Amino acid sequence: MQVAVFSTKSYDREFLLSASTESEICYDFFEERLTQRTVVLARDFPAVCCFVNDELSASVIEAIAAGGTKMIALRCAGFNNCNLHAAAEHGVKVARVPAYSPYAVAEHTVGLILTLNRKFHKAYNRVREGNFALQGMLGFDLHGKTIGVVGTGKIGQIAASILQGFGCRILAFDVHQNPECVAAGVEYVELDQLFAESDVVTLHCPLLPSTKYLVNEASIAKMKPGVMLINTSRGGLVDAKAVIEGLKTGQIGYVGLDVYEEEADLFFEDRSELVIQDDVFSRLLTFPNVLITGHQAFFTRNALEAISQVTTENLRQFLKGEKLANEVVAS
Ligand code: NAD
Repeated sequence: MQVAVFSTKSYDREFLLSASTESEICYDFFEERLTQRTVVLARDFPAVCCFVNDELSASVIEAIAAGGTKMIALRCAGFNNCNLHAAAEHGVKVARVPAYSPYAVAEHTVGLILTLNRKFHKAYNRVREGNFALQGMLGFDLHGKTIGVVGTGKIGQIAASILQGFGCRILAFDVHQNPECVAAGVEYVELDQLFAESDVVTLHCPLLPSTKYLVNEASIAKMKPGVMLINTSRGGLVDAKAVIEGLKTGQIGYVGLDVYEEEADLFFEDRSELVIQDDVFSRLLTFPNVLITGHQAFFTRNALEAISQVTTENLRQFLKGEKLANEVVAS
């Protein structure tokens, strides 16, 4: 079965090809992002393989279905970019990779916390320039600090467990308590209490209508002055303009982001020769206490292997008419 792979990078090609050598799945790679403009590329492909910033809106799904596509294999966990109702309406199946390496994202989260706190990124440049001054490098002990984990699924649970190893107290909020977290001593509290008591707030819940702008002007006002805010989940969880105001007043002391609401037009490409048109993103970059990575939390060898294997298996199940183990359907 021929599969059109969108938003392909060299590493996608390498890992998908190696996962599919023995299978009946044949990947055809496109560098383009799937959008209304590029949808013509999917024509006559029974399946497409998409990533986080491919556009799977109702109109794009209608167009791919009209071109003969019956399966969308998401090579990611989140499916907020996919209109599942439209997929159901047009008889297009959707499957995802529910967990590839939750360790990759949880470890990156802790990396952001440590880097913002101990300023490794600044030290790297300073020492290379022969500047050994410590002014501006002052951090704090993570030991004894309170970390607020919003969403204690696979990634949140691992992040909590790593941070417990640092001697942190973990407060959590989730719509469903995770019994393993409870057993490990994580304290579930209401969101307002988590905001009020946490030195670090880290987001690990999905982007849903109910979680959009979970971090906004009102919730920032409830947080501890000087709080560290970390988002490795989805950009839309955070109102970036409110975060900028919080940074300007000092209410927010540090921000670590791996995701950004408008990242689709920025991330995964070299834009170093271009002028960034997004003024909110550009303003965020001006703060000395903001650290942004370009949606790379998942990016480990282990995760890419797992993504490619599970994606190929999802497609094989579809080809064979088997039940899709990782199907996502509209709720
Ligand atoms: P998961 O499904 O295992 O866990 C999500 C948790 O969020 C669940 O426990 C769920 O009950 C909880 N939740 C749902 N609604 C909530 C709400 N309103 N408030 C609080 N909690 C709520 O997912 P996961 O594998 O841990 O991934 C978490 C998120 O990380 C994903 O949604 C995805 O967007 C993001 N992610 C980012 C990267 C990256 O590279 N930056 C990679 C993978 C996943």
